Amino acid sequence: MRTVIAGAGPTGLLLAGDLAAAGADVTVLERRAGESNLTRAFAVHARTLEQFDARGIAEDVIATGTKLARLRLFGRVSVDLGGLPSRYPFVLITPQYNVERILEERALKAGARIVRGTTVTGLRQDEHGVEVRTDGGTFAADWLVGADGAHSGVREALGLPFPGRAAVRSLMLADVRLADPPADVITVSAVGSAFAFVAPFGDGWHRVFAWNRGHQVGDEVPLEIEEVRATVREAFGTDFGMGECRWLSRFHSDERQVERYRTGRVFLAGDAAHVHSPAGGQGMNTGLQDAANLGWKLAAAGAGWAPAGLLDTYQSERHAVGRTVLRSSGGLIRLALLSSRGARLGRDVLGGLALHVPAVQRGLTGTVSGIGIDYPHAPRQADVDLGGARLYELLRQGRHVLLAPEAPQGYEDRLLHAPHERRVLVRPDGYTAWAGTQGDLAVALRAHLGEPR
Ligand SMILES: Cc1cc2nc3c(=O)[nH]c(=O)nc-3n(C[C@H](O)[C@H](O)[C@H](O)COP(=O)(O)OP(=O)(O)OC[C@H]3O[C@@H](n4cnc5c(N)ncnc54)[C@H](O)[C@@H]3O)c2cc1C
Repeated sequence: MRTVIAGAGPTGLLLAGDLAAAGADVTVLERRAGESNLTRAFAVHARTLEQFDARGIAEDVIATGTKLARLRLFGRVSVDLGGLPSRYPFVLITPQYNVERILEERALKAGARIVRGTTVTGLRQDEHGVEVRTDGGTFAADWLVGADGAHSGVREALGLPFPGRAAVRSLMLADVRLADPPADVITVSAVGSAFAFVAPFGDGWHRVFAWNRGHQVGDEVPLEIEEVRATVREAFGTDFGMGECRWLSRFHSDERQVERYRTGRVFLAGDAAHVHSPAGGQGMNTGLQDAANLGWKLAAAGAGWAPAGLLDTYQSERHAVGRTVLRSSGGLIRLALLSSRGARLGRDVLGGLALHVPAVQRGLTGTVSGIGIDYPHAPRQADVDLGGARLYELLRQGRHVLLAPEAPQGYEDRLLHAPHERRVLVRPDGYTAWAGTQGDLAVALRAHLGEPR
C-alpha cells in the first residue's frame, strides 16, 4: 500500500510513523525545505501522552518539557489535572519542535520517506488510486492524506469549503526571556482593555500571548516588542523584565471545520480539517488524535482485512470531536477576553464556584486533557496492568489487543492476546472496540477484524 501524506507537521509525522511501522510504503511531502525551530503549540495533553506511550515515545517527549498539574484557563480560574485517571495526570509544556523531532525520528526509523521542498499543488483520483501533483513532479498513491495545515493545498485541490468565522483578531505572540518571571507556572491576567498570558517553556524562554481591545489591527500591521511589553504591563502591572525576543508575530484565530474529512481516497487531518482558538492548547493535540485514529484504519485497509465501512468511521468519530473542540476552545477564549470588569468578576466567581463541583471539574479536565473524549461506540480504554506488561506497552505492536481467558485462532497477524478474566477487544488507538462474553467473541472478532486467516 502506498500512502502519500502532505505536510510534515505533528499530524503528518505521527501518521507517517504509524503507517510505516505497519509495513506501508509512506512518502511525506513537505513544502518547507528546512526544519522549523519556531514553536506554535507548547501544550501536550494527557491523552496525547497516552498515545505516545502506545508508541514507546512518551518518556522521550516528557524529558523535553515541564509537567504542570494545574492549568489556568482565565482570570483566577484553573483546573486541577492531578486527579485525572491517567498515567499522565498533568499537561506537559514543551515547544512543538520537540514533539516534531521525536515523531520525525520515529517515522524515519520505521521506514517513512520525507521529501522536503515539495509543495502539493493538485490531485486527481479514481477508484484505483490518487495522482498527487506537486511542484516537483507527480506521485502515485493508493491513499493521500492532507495534513498540510490551515491553508491546506489538498483541501483546496478537493474544492472543499472551510466554513466558519474569524474568532479573535490581532493576537500578539512573543517568545521572550524574562529577567523576573512570574511565580505561577502559567499566569493570566486581564485588566482594562489588556489581556496577557505567560507560560514558561522550561528552557529559559517564555511564551507570551497578548491582546489589546483598544488596538485591533490586521495581521499585516508590523508588530514591535514594545506593543507586547505595554500590553503585558497593563495586564499585570509589570513586564517581568522582558528582554531578548526570538519570535514575534501578530495573528488572528479562526474557527473553521471542513464538513467532509474523507473524499474517496483522500483524507484531511489536523489543521487542514479544523482550526480554532489557541485557548486550552487543543490544536496540535487534536491533530495528533486524528492521526492516531486514521493510521490503523488505513493500515487495515492496506493489509486487506478492514471490515466494510471502517474507513468511514474516521469521519464519524473525528468530525464530532473536532466540533466539540471548536466549541470548547471558542468558549474559553471568549470568556478570557470578556470586555466588562463586572462580567469578568462574575466569570471568575461563578467559574471558581462551578469548579468546586466534582462533576464540572471532571468534565472540564476530561475535555481539555482529551481523557474524557470517547467515541460513540468505542470508549477510551484506560491502561491496565496485565502482570508483566501494561496494556499500552502491548499496543506498541500497532495491533488490536484482546484481553480474554482464551486465545482465538486465525487473527495472529492483527491481534495480540493477553490472558485476562474479562473479554475486551482494544483497538490500536486505545479505544474499546468490544466487551462481552465468550459466546459473542467470534462474531465480534469478525465484525472488527474481518475473517480469520
Ligand atoms: C501562532 C500560533 C500559536 C499556536 N499555539 C498553539 C498552542 O498553544 N497550543 C496548540 O495546541 N496549538 C497551537 N497552535 C496550533 C498548532 O500549532 C497546530 O494546531 C498544529 O501545528 C497542527 O499540526 P498539523 O500537523 O495539523 O499542521 P501544521 O503544523 O500546520 O503542519 C502542516 C505542514 O504542512 C506543510 N504544508 C503546507 N502546505 C503544504 C503543501 N501544499 N504541500 C506540502 N506541504 C505543505 C507546512 O509547511 C507544515 O509543515 C498555534 C498555531 C499558531 C499559528
